[in-house]
Amino acid sequence: MISEESVDSIDTLALRRLKISKEKAIESYRSSQKRVFDILHMDLDLSFDYEAQTVIGHVDLRIKPFKYPQKILQIDAQDFELSKIFFSQKGKSTELAYSYDEQLIQLYLPRELDERDTFNLIFDYKAFPNKNSGGGSEAIQDTKGLYFIDPLDTISGKPRMIWTQGETMHNSKWFPTIDHPNERFTQRLNLSLADSLVSISNGELVAQKKVENGMRIDSWEMKMPHPPYLVAFTIGDFEKVNAVWEDIPLGYYIERGYKNGAAKVFQNTPEMIGFFSDILGVRYPWPKYDQVVVRDFVSGAMENTTASIFMEELRLTEREAIDGEWDYIIAHELFHQWFGDYVTAESWSNLPLNEAFANYSEFLWNEYKYGPDEAKLKLISETENYFAEAESKVENLIRFEYSDSEDMFDSHSYSKGGVILQMLREYLGKEVFYEGLNYYLKSHALQSVEVHDLRLAFEKVSGEDLNWFFNQWFLGKGHPELEIKVDYSEPENILVSITQQQDLTKFPLFQIPFEISWYVDGEREKRKFFLNKAFQQFALDNKMPVDQVYFDEEKNVLANFNIERNAESYQKQFLTSKIGIARYEALDSLVSMEANEELKIVINNALSDSFWAIRESALRIIQGNTSWLSVDKNLENKVFGLVENDLKNSVRAGAIDALASYDAVKYQQTFKRLTNDPSYLISGSALMGLMEEGIDLEPDYIAQFDREQNFRIVIPVADFYITKPIAGKGAWFHSQIKTLSGEGLYFYLGYYAEYFSRFREEGSEEAISNLFTILDGDEKSFIRLGAFQALLAFSDEEVVIDRLVKSTASESDPELKMYYQYFMEVIKGEN
Ligand SMILES: [Zn+2]
Repeated sequence: MISEESVDSIDTLALRRLKISKEKAIESYRSSQKRVFDILHMDLDLSFDYEAQTVIGHVDLRIKPFKYPQKILQIDAQDFELSKIFFSQKGKSTELAYSYDEQLIQLYLPRELDERDTFNLIFDYKAFPNKNSGGGSEAIQDTKGLYFIDPLDTISGKPRMIWTQGETMHNSKWFPTIDHPNERFTQRLNLSLADSLVSISNGELVAQKKVENGMRIDSWEMKMPHPPYLVAFTIGDFEKVNAVWEDIPLGYYIERGYKNGAAKVFQNTPEMIGFFSDILGVRYPWPKYDQVVVRDFVSGAMENTTASIFMEELRLTEREAIDGEWDYIIAHELFHQWFGDYVTAESWSNLPLNEAFANYSEFLWNEYKYGPDEAKLKLISETENYFAEAESKVENLIRFEYSDSEDMFDSHSYSKGGVILQMLREYLGKEVFYEGLNYYLKSHALQSVEVHDLRLAFEKVSGEDLNWFFNQWFLGKGHPELEIKVDYSEPENILVSITQQQDLTKFPLFQIPFEISWYVDGEREKRKFFLNKAFQQFALDNKMPVDQVYFDEEKNVLANFNIERNAESYQKQFLTSKIGIARYEALDSLVSMEANEELKIVINNALSDSFWAIRESALRIIQGNTSWLSVDKNLENKVFGLVENDLKNSVRAGAIDALASYDAVKYQQTFKRLTNDPSYLISGSALMGLMEEGIDLEPDYIAQFDREQNFRIVIPVADFYITKPIAGKGAWFHSQIKTLSGEGLYFYLGYYAEYFSRFREEGSEEAISNLFTILDGDEKSFIRLGAFQALLAFSDEEVVIDRLVKSTASESDPELKMYYQYFMEVIKGEN
């Protein structure tokens, strides 16, 4: 029995909980920053103390109250040293009282100022980018804002440079500002640097003045306003490749020795600028576009206004650049010059307004340059990125609650965002979609935006309410889980039943426009439908009887499909579909079903498919089934034909790999010839083919390759020295570990350790020490993992185990740390 009073108290308790949860929702809501003051212009003089790694600055900010009268001004300035701060108006200057908590300067203005009061804030300061950063997680290492690389030039082979990385709110580590994306100002940057060096920054280089002690001052001017996180510069010993699009000068900056490579890596930039300007109907909005490749960058690349900065993976020799496929990242940063820089998400909650577009530009460029199949291949990989992330986190795309702004930089904002834009283009049609983008860019030029601005632009041009689309995709979370059943019992009127299986307590009931297609005498037919119920049936009314239909054959819909298909139906799909990506999917499905009989039937067609990704897949299939070549000479000849004639280097390399697995001895003369191919993909595969059993190579033959520094050549040479085996190569192995980086270094580490664990007298101590240096200090977690795995080759040495215990205990990456713990338990168990 419950007394009336206790019923009351239960109600009270429930009500109190409700109040608390509602209060919490208000408290944790991430709104855009309130505009209290507006910075109109920044004049910034910077010089650098390389020894102390500090920034010496003099700033002059032109500011006004945004709307309401104000008495106190707050300026972001992280870890600065400050002295006097001056307020200047109409030629009169007074010193201001202020307080400072290492994050915000709180300035007490001489009187209450209103929106007509423009004034200047002028002061000297010192900034310490390294203070309160580094040593922690990767996210924390990312907060310096300004980075000194090899500041005293003590690391051999590593050029000294400075570069900056402002996103999200890290630029206030090196200049005082209102560090939020809805702020916007013009600027002049006067950079002090050695006369032998080069600077790159936003806008135009308007002056260069030689001063004493071999120094120079470079002045960069941005005449159009942009947000503080896009302010950037780099200083270093760069070479420049000059290019041009119409009257817009383009610069590709690279460290010495890589100029020819950079000319190739960035060669499509002018065409990209033209293409994007065309589809958007908004000409590239800035006076120039520079792209700079730096060392040790903390991200892939960053779209600073007119001055994008890229990671060192884009630093290639001319020969490496033959196979360098960096268009996607170049397109991404370039598209940001419109979406992000020209029109800017007003808050990190709206980040997809920047990143979804940049991501989608990779699709658009592929579609324009290489056709729809290549574009859809990209889209599928984005879909997979999102699905992989969705297993552990499902978020609204536009998120008004997050714990850290860095959390927004995930596969939701990028990959899912890009796929959503493709669905929108599919729904509206290309013409209306681009018209909507044009309207959006023009009506919000040099302003900040939120997601509704985008919806309203599309509604304006299409004349259609689009809340349903934006609510489910931008403001909602999740994706449709569709169970699809096809009833073929009336072959001239096929019935498709679709059930939405996602949890409707958490996710929307989706409204999905989609297409069903089929083939009659080899001709493709299609019909569009609209799914808007939990369970819905669609009659095709196809008239001519068919026995197979395709749901979303062109892969435009972001959904998980639960549809019963057997190998035979994928075989049929492969052999009949006119859509490259559908054939690719069919082949891929047959592989994952291990449907060898069906694969054997389609393999011939797959090898001559017009879509290179299918030829490449087919070669991988053959590599795992080389017996097919023994019984089918035609197939073997076809593979050989691809080695010699395919237009795509990756296909030629795949064909070499397949023949090497099949009968390397037979093809060794071909392989020897192809080791001289200009493409490293091809020459590397050919050299690797020569490492197969039965081929007896002389050390003299290999010697011609041992000066190469590309990992595709280094690895087969290392393999040769180990398996032959050849002593006396310690110095060669040590030198390679110093020059390789990234993925190549990762693969190499295993070979490196194996050589020295066999020939300890060649310098295993130095090898172990080098591996520990990587394990303890490399910035990339997958490289540290490679060093750990390599060190296990020395796990018979107690000192190595002891050091491994220490090193792995201080690992900062939680996933890697768990992996280490597991392995160390196993090793301890063994010892
Ligand atoms: Zn981006």
